[in-house]
Amino acid sequence: MACTVFTIANQKGGVGKTTTAVNLAAALAERKIHTLVVDLDPQANATSALGIEKQEGRSLYRPLHGEGSAFEMLTPTEWPHLALIPSEVDLAAIEIELAQQENYLLRLKSVLDPIKNSGGYRAIIIDCPPALGMLSMNSLAAADQLLIALQCEYMALEGLGQILKVVDRLKNAGVNSALEVGGIVMTMFDSRINLAKQVVEEVRQHLPDKIFNSVIPRTVRLSEAPSFGKPIFAYDPHSPGAAAYRALAKEVIERFQLDQKGDAAMTGASDV
Ligand code: ATP
Ligand code: MG
Repeated sequence: MACTVFTIANQKGGVGKTTTAVNLAAALAERKIHTLVVDLDPQANATSALGIEKQEGRSLYRPLHGEGSAFEMLTPTEWPHLALIPSEVDLAAIEIELAQQENYLLRLKSVLDPIKNSGGYRAIIIDCPPALGMLSMNSLAAADQLLIALQCEYMALEGLGQILKVVDRLKNAGVNSALEVGGIVMTMFDSRINLAKQVVEEVRQHLPDKIFNSVIPRTVRLSEAPSFGKPIFAYDPHSPGAAAYRALAKEVIERFQLDQKGDAAMTGASDV
């Protein structure tokens, strides 16, 4: 089974990265696509949003130092086809410690590649902290596709320019020449606010082939679900937020052909 590694990175805080990582992953799992969430944020929000308690020593901290393997950190969730590599606060120290190691940008890649190549997962989704530091840079070096969560607000495009520049630099330096900007997810859309519509239109005009058609609405249910340790599909499966993440997953499956060599009956793929 081929595996696509997605990273959800963005230097801006609170734009819906974790909400998107968790719920997109859960929506893929609902479609029987074996998905692994890698929580690379020391805040460990994705870990708790998936109902897993933070636990000292349960993160990529040691594997990133070359101690033990990432396989030991694989943690099942309550939901079929959805696994997690959790995070905990120790991971914060990596920002400084990695810089002193050789090949520091490729540490995460070397840790995750054995899982990627194991045949166990069709998609790996990395949730990054809100900074383009060592952890996020490592995720960009390890990923096939960058998914950018953009909040529908003033200055959204300005932040976009920064991360696109970093991607170009990594590609040109040969750190990850295969890295692609896989797509842009517009988050926290409030249809009552004119500016939100304008921002979506602007992004659509600038990057028509990157922006996903599914726009994630701002809903209280999406913000409540993490405190119950559940993706939206377990918390309120018939809510507009759940519908939006299901629609996004459908687009992601089609764009990256995640149903190929997957469960054809389930995903409706018939030509592979
Ligand atoms: P950080 O940069 O701190 O990691 P983030 O980019 O991962 O943040 P989230 O944690 O996903 O962003 O979202 C920030 C806050 O907004 C959270 O409280 C979350 O519950 C809420 N939120 C995210 N998406 C939505 C939405 N579509 N509707 C309502 N609230 C949302
Ligand atoms: Mg987050």
